[in-house]
Amino acid sequence: MKKLILIKYGELTTKKGNRNLFIKLLVKNINSLLKNVDYKIKYDRVRMYIEADDIDLVIQKLNNVFGIHSIVKCYKVNTNIDEIKQSLITVLNDIKFDTFKVETKRADKSFPISSMEFSRMMGAYILKNVNSKVDVHHPDLVVKIEIRTEATYIYTDEIMGLGGYPVGVQGTGLLMLSGGIDSPVAGFLSLKRGVDLECLYFESPPHTSIMAKNKVIKLASIINCYSGNIKVNVVPFTKIQEAIYKNVDESYVITIMRRMMYRIAHEVVKRKNLNVIINGESIGQVASQTLRSMSVINDVTNLPVIRPVACLDKLEIIDLAYKIGTYETSILPYEDCCTVFLPKHPVINPVLEKCIQYEKMFDFESLIEEAINNIEVISNLEEEKSDLL
Ligand code: ATP
Ligand code: MG
Repeated sequence: MKKLILIKYGELTTKKGNRNLFIKLLVKNINSLLKNVDYKIKYDRVRMYIEADDIDLVIQKLNNVFGIHSIVKCYKVNTNIDEIKQSLITVLNDIKFDTFKVETKRADKSFPISSMEFSRMMGAYILKNVNSKVDVHHPDLVVKIEIRTEATYIYTDEIMGLGGYPVGVQGTGLLMLSGGIDSPVAGFLSLKRGVDLECLYFESPPHTSIMAKNKVIKLASIINCYSGNIKVNVVPFTKIQEAIYKNVDESYVITIMRRMMYRIAHEVVKRKNLNVIINGESIGQVASQTLRSMSVINDVTNLPVIRPVACLDKLEIIDLAYKIGTYETSILPYEDCCTVFLPKHPVINPVLEKCIQYEKMFDFESLIEEAINNIEVISNLEEEKSDLL
């Protein structure tokens, strides 16, 4: 009897044509996640098996992998009735339960006993050898037996995986990552759909501090648990912000500032050959996130902008932030460039022509070019588990 991990694939099984690509990427992601662990991996179109010395450690790591429907600790035995019986008893002797039921799946149709009949036979054998009762409706334990051509697999518990698509299968997006609650959640949700991430953070020293920057790097490290490839691009934004405050009516500063952020994001996506811009905007949350504001701001780019939390309530976003472990870091009280010069009455219905007029007041193109040329790239991020997880 050999102990191993069985992985059932997530939603990828619905994508027939892309299935091989999906599975290969999932394997690649698991391989890079397990780079420092001793293990062997085997897979086919339906499932994957991993053998390892430290099974619990591997399972813990697999809990962060998108594209996995469920993770099962299982036992592989030869398809031989006596051997199956003996293994069942060995496995069940290690588990505390009063009631059970057996479920057999006969994937190998050449096996001569039907699934129902085999469950009944094994149930009777367990009753005889382990002090327990059968309960087909609400058992403490479901004993699963899968008879396949190459072997038979026995298992009793199945841990739900994260689901979603393998990270990277949809390319890479540029996440505008601030120190707030929303954008890390937006990043997590994008990873879940198979979009890998690079992050873009705008800093305005000395108006924003090194602590604010470190907080963003920490947030990126936490979501990096689900990717392993995330980099943070830090954009020096001070000169642009100061030019805006010098030249633009106070009510429009946030609108113009966000148009500048989008212009820079657009350029970075193009230069790095990424696919989309992603951010944590949520409809109606603040003045710059009314539909009218969004369209005036969005006007500077023709790239798709994905807003995964656009339609979530703040409480729903907080709930997710808590679950993925970013909340406690997000609420640390360091300032963001959006909050340092917050105007008293930001416009909620900005007019595009006015924005264009204000932007003629200063040479924003060369300031943007300079900012992009001075981006600091932070790679090799930790894959940092939050204390909460
Ligand atoms: P909060 O959780 O407080 O709303 P937030 O980060 O969502 O924080 P918003 O003012 O709502 O702050 O900004 C909307 C979006 O714009 C953010 O989710 C983020 O994607 C982007 N953004 C804001 N500030 C920055 C920044 N300094 N660097 C990069 N992206 C930013
Ligand atoms: Mg927000």
